[in-house]
Amino acid sequence: MSECIFCNIIAGKIPAEKIYEDERFVAFRDIRPLYRVHLLIVPKEHLASVNEVGETACGSLDGIWLVARKVAERAGVAETGYRLAVNTGRDAGQVVMHFHMHLLAGETLRPL
Ligand code: 5GP
Ligand code: ZN
Repeated sequence: MSECIFCNIIAGKIPAEKIYEDERFVAFRDIRPLYRVHLLIVPKEHLASVNEVGETACGSLDGIWLVARKVAERAGVAETGYRLAVNTGRDAGQVVMHFHMHLLAGETLRPL
């Protein structure tokens, strides 16, 4: 088994409540939601963080904005609003070292 928890979710070895999947991305509910809607959008290819994004292309992250839009629509929050957040590194509080984008919604969010 991989040591990466999200690689194991992608491989189906750890259960998760998936709400979206295509060839390159998966989205599932966060296990400790901060808001009524708290989803994680995750590339299937392992990438630790934004710090591994290449200079000329985003590689495995190409297309993530369209996926975020589809996930927001599927979750029913596209019109009411949502926040997309990516923690990178220790000071930002990143704990899972497999790139993920948080989609937060479903109620009024605390200001950043
Ligand atoms: P980070 O702080 O790294 O940006 O956020 C990691 C997120 O992953 C946290 O919000 C945490 O609740 C979530 N998480 C950690 N382990 C699991 C898990 O096993 N399953 C799911 N669904 N979410 C997880
Ligand atoms: Zn991984």
